[in-house]
Order: sequence, then C-alpha cells, then structure tokens
Amino acid sequence: MNTTQISAQRIAADIETIGSLSECDPAIGYSRPTFSDPWREARDYVIAEGERFGGETRIDAFGNVHIRRAETGGGRPVWLCGSHLDSVPSGGKYDGVMGVVIALEVFRVAPDVPLEVIIFAEEEGTTFGVGMLGSRSWAGEVSPTQLAALKNRHGLSFVEAGALYGVDPRRMEADRLHREQYRGMIEVHAEQGLELWKTGIPAAAVTRINGRREYEVRFSGQGNHAGSTRMTDRRDALTGASEAILMIEALGRRLDQEQQHSVMTVGCVRVQPNAMNVIPGQAIFTVDFRAQEEQILDNGEQRLREELDRIAVQRDLGVEVAVNERVSPSPLDETLRKLFQEAARRLGKTLPEVPSGALHDAARIATCLPAGMLFVGSRDGISHDPREYSRNEDIVEAAEIVLETVRG
Ligand SMILES: [Zn+2]
Repeated sequence: MNTTQISAQRIAADIETIGSLSECDPAIGYSRPTFSDPWREARDYVIAEGERFGGETRIDAFGNVHIRRAETGGGRPVWLCGSHLDSVPSGGKYDGVMGVVIALEVFRVAPDVPLEVIIFAEEEGTTFGVGMLGSRSWAGEVSPTQLAALKNRHGLSFVEAGALYGVDPRRMEADRLHREQYRGMIEVHAEQGLELWKTGIPAAAVTRINGRREYEVRFSGQGNHAGSTRMTDRRDALTGASEAILMIEALGRRLDQEQQHSVMTVGCVRVQPNAMNVIPGQAIFTVDFRAQEEQILDNGEQRLREELDRIAVQRDLGVEVAVNERVSPSPLDETLRKLFQEAARRLGKTLPEVPSGALHDAARIATCLPAGMLFVGSRDGISHDPREYSRNEDIVEAAEIVLETVRG
C-alpha cells in the first residue's frame, strides 16, 4: 500500500477498528468512557500503529498519549495534531476519533514532517463531570488537587482511576505543556452542527470556539398538600421553574438574533419532593449558555438573572443562581487558519470559515499555543448519537489539507 499519500482505505479501516472497541453494541451506540477497557484498547491500537511507523510513545502525567519519532524536529518546535478517543455514553463513531485518525495517517505518510500525534484523555466530561480534563490539566488550567477531587460514579478520583493509565500526580508539575516545544496545535473534528452538511461543504476552517457558562438555578417555594391547598395559596417551585425555562428559551432566541451562535439550554431538571400529590417545594435546573464573546456572555447572564428575579418576585418564590463553570471564548489562530486556506488552495479546494458552538481540546490548548481547527461535515448535524456520520471522502480531504499545511 502507498505510504506517501493519504489513504482513504486506511482512514476508513482505522475508524472501523476504533468503532468496534466499545462497551455496547454499535446499534445502541459507541461507548468508550475514559479509563475503560475499550478506551484503553482504542488508545493501544493507535499507539501500535504509530510505533509500526517509527513512532515512540510517551504518556504524560495527565493520561494524554504523545507519539512522535525520536529526534523529530531536531530540537526545533514540532506540530501537535490529534483529538480524543473517549466518547459520551452511546455516542457516535466519529467524534474525536476522526481527529486522532487523521493525525495518525499524516504521521504515517509524512516521516519528514516534525509532528507529534496526541490523544487527549477525558474530553467529553461524562466520566468526571468536567470536560477537556486531559488538555486543560496539561495546559496548566486544572491543578493536581482539583484532579484528585473529581470523582467518577464509583467514587474514584481522576488520579485514582487514572493511575493504571499513566496519571501520576508526582510528575504533573514537571510534565506541563512546554510551549517552546511546539509550533502549533491542529485538531480536526466532526462539525456536530448543520452548517457544512446543509451546504454540501466537505470541510471548513474554524474561526473561534464559543465560551460556555453553566448555571444551577434553584427555585424554592412551599411543599404542601395537592388536595387541600387552594390554587391561590400556593408557592409552587416547579411552575416558577417552568415559566423560567420558557423565558430562557426566548432569551436564547433573542440573544441569537442579536449575536449569532448564542444558545441557551436547560438540560437537567430536578423536583423535590417529586411526588404526585405534593406541591413541589424545590425545583432545580441547569442552564448551559454559550456565545462567541465574553461580553455577550456577561450581558446574557445579567439579563438571565434579572428575568429569574422577576419571576421569583411575581410568584413569591426564592431563587438562587450558582455558576458552576465559566469557560472563555477561544479565538483560534488566524495565521494558522490562513495556512490551512493556502494549503487548500494549493490542492485546488476552497476552505470556508465557520465558528464552533461546541468546545474542543484545541480551545484549551489555544491558551498556550497557536491552535487551529478544521471541521468536517456531520450528516444532518447529528452527533453524540450512534447515527453520527461523516463521509470518508470529506475526512480524507481534511487529512490532505492538514498534510499540505504541515508540509508547508
Ligand atoms: Zn469531540
């Protein structure tokens, strides 16, 4: 087989092989939680392929895998290229995998290019409740103490559960990302949105990655008897929360009209006591808010708080808003984007630009290195679902653009 050009067959075979490593049947979805057997097997497969093509492997103290050829770059900065192999429960076949497979294929065919393949640990956030842990901790954003406090559903911390997979708090300080070693970071990812698929565009360069704020909102009323409490005498926390949820949808729509790609989602609701014949005394829900600029996030948060207060006052309820997470928007590197576009032009392709609504490892690495991303179209915009699909020829096109970019 030709090993100087990107091979559509090898890419398809890699994706199939990694897809076959899952905790559940592919009909239900692809499940590779971080630190599970299928996740380790998928990682081992990429390591074995990298080593077959002359790579040497290092697993850093945060559980990220680095594969490069000895002496690559001769001491000069190298390109970093990759993504993640962990998945959400019953997720798709391409999310993360595509970016790792493209990095591996470029590594195979370009021994002359100073390149390090990276597989980030725990991108999805479903195992320890916080996303992009491998990239964030490597970039110095998450401390060893914080990693030791994050628990999975078995009560094991990231440090305890990861001990068998290279996670080692004693090495963490020394093992941080050393920016002088890298030229930049390239991540290819499924778009997970509709923009490319609906216009038939195979791949695009990502301009920026939306920031995110996560809130927990708690409405407090008075739990009471559903039969003997008159409608006028109620302080129902759930009806207050219901009004708030519809308000949040409307606010999200207004923000999106004012500044495109702003979104607000209520994805999780809990009611107490959650009994058929009791007026709910407490209603708790989450808000996921994403936008392209910090100032839109600030403005949206202020409006959200004002509206929640208004509803609480009108209904004689208490309301508390806790901010669980703040991730700033990440503009991606403009020079690298231009390099992608010049590379595409040399290949006779055009590479339009899109923003990213979803967060990615490249967003965290962008705080340390010039980072660039390419998106590949996702059929019907579906992701985090077994129906997730991207055309192999589109993935190959993105791989060719990456190869042309790093070859310069
Ligand atoms: Zn992903």
